[in-house]
Amino acid sequence: AKASLTGEFCFYDVEMDEAARDRTKMAKELWAAIDAKQFHLNYQVQKSVSTGDITGYEVLLRWYHPERGLVSPVDFIPVAEECGAILPIGEWVLREACREAAGWPVDHKVAVNLSPVQIAHTDMPALVHQVLLETGLKPSRLELEITESSIFSDKQRALHALRAIKALGVSIAIDDFGTGYSSLETLQSFPFDKIKLDRSFLIDVERSEEAKAMVRAILALGQGLRIPVLAEGVETSHQLDILRHEGCHEAQGYLLGRPMPIDKQLLTEAA
Ligand code: C2E
Ligand code: CA
Ligand code: CA
Ligand code: CA
Repeated sequence: AKASLTGEFCFYDVEMDEAARDRTKMAKELWAAIDAKQFHLNYQVQKSVSTGDITGYEVLLRWYHPERGLVSPVDFIPVAEECGAILPIGEWVLREACREAAGWPVDHKVAVNLSPVQIAHTDMPALVHQVLLETGLKPSRLELEITESSIFSDKQRALHALRAIKALGVSIAIDDFGTGYSSLETLQSFPFDKIKLDRSFLIDVERSEEAKAMVRAILALGQGLRIPVLAEGVETSHQLDILRHEGCHEAQGYLLGRPMPIDKQLLTEAA
């Protein structure tokens, strides 16, 4: 009603409508994408900083849409979360990753991202238990990565679910640590098995003493709490040298390996 009074508002509303229509269209496509086999899993290697040994692989979801092409998870995960399609998609990712990892010739960990929506709307401990039984993957080989926001919305429920998952022998990493909602309080309220230091901290670490001080402080925090720290987004050998010097445990990033299908990587490893 108000919108019809001025051209400006009218234009704005049309744009909003368009954005909403786009999201609705994408939401519909997301619901159909599993059956259409449009999802694929990429894996990005995680390595020990001191030895260079592979410790695990993070699973990163890829959506190949026939018309849109490759859609970034940054663009479709929020839509999938909003419309609920993240529940079947997230379940598919978990099952597929565990199934694949159970067949690897090596016993590296597989790290799967969990959406806050999954924690809020699914009985995750039951699902994880069922998938482990189904696939035969050893619980100690599964790691779930959660961001702080998943704990934030319904803290009691989330902590309860995380404890039940940990009791299965599965480990839990706090993702994107140091950004957004992440607080020291959360770190204290749950015994995480790993801290994933957000990529943003590494961007300036080579040039800025302040950035280095931040990295050093988070590593000291991990040390004090006896939680190993993995640095995300390592792109240069200089960054890796700094991390080694500062006592960081694990690293992940383009320098160590791009996300890619697993077959290629396991073959390279075997060679
Ligand atoms: P994330 O969990 O923080 O994943 C790390 C992201 O950083 C990945 O982006 C990865 O490709 C990228 N990355 C890795 N190394 C480097 C580097 O050295 N430099 C730079 N610039 N980037 C690097 P990707 O694959 O686009 O995924 C983006 C986000 O989408 C993920 O962030 C995660 O939050 C979400 N996501 C991906 N797969 C899933 C999934 O299966 N389930 C859920 N719920 N979320 C997912
Ligand atoms: Ca992650
Ligand atoms: Ca991350
Ligand atoms: Ca992220």
